[in-house]
Amino acid sequence: MIDYHIHSEFSPDSNAKIEEILKKARERGIDNIIITDHFEVVKGDHEFKFNVEEYRRTMEKFCLPVGVEFGWDGESPIDVDLKNFDFVILSCHVFKNPINQESYKDYLERLLNIINKFDSYHVLGHLDFPRRYSKKFEPFSKDLYPIIEEIFKKVINDGKGIEVNTDSMLKYGEPNPSFEILKLYRDLGGEFITIGSDAHKAEDVGRGVKEATKILKELGFDYIRILNGEWNAIKIGC
Ligand SMILES: [Zn+2]
Ligand SMILES: [Zn+2]
Repeated sequence: MIDYHIHSEFSPDSNAKIEEILKKARERGIDNIIITDHFEVVKGDHEFKFNVEEYRRTMEKFCLPVGVEFGWDGESPIDVDLKNFDFVILSCHVFKNPINQESYKDYLERLLNIINKFDSYHVLGHLDFPRRYSKKFEPFSKDLYPIIEEIFKKVINDGKGIEVNTDSMLKYGEPNPSFEILKLYRDLGGEFITIGSDAHKAEDVGRGVKEATKILKELGFDYIRILNGEWNAIKIGC
């Protein structure tokens, strides 16, 4: 099993020790993990940076690839070389309140703008992210699918992938993005997917991954990408 989205104490919102994460992963039979701590380049209070050299050394000490969840608002100047990382999840955590279809639309437009300006990443993180914070976990309306389609076409053309983030599986039974949106990605020829729990505590490592993987297979995905020095595809369910 795989988990390619985990936060450790290098993130401002996690206290998880790397030793604990590795222990939990072993106990759960997760043999392939990447820790992806927040590096957030945004305007305002949520900006967050860690010492990249220290981070690299730590991951290497544990024989882990050097992963990062790079958060960007699409505007703030980027002063980090993303080539220092083996695996980059590109995420946007900025969205407008109140959360409704209008703010979903604004979020997607921001994402599209981001990927039009920036390509130092491997996968686009949790595409319908604001849904997690909406009152009734309202899905993105089909009216927004043309923008999502445009995002996916760009991602696929650029040779990038998307991540299936299972944090919301326990909340409302779907990952980010939703199964319907993942189906759209598949229909457009999207094949490059990684999967991750977005755990901020060691006990959450691998949460939802098995359940989501089963459904991915039903949606027509045959492979999940893993990083073994280079990117390889492993068959789902094997
Ligand atoms: Zn995130
Ligand atoms: Zn995360």
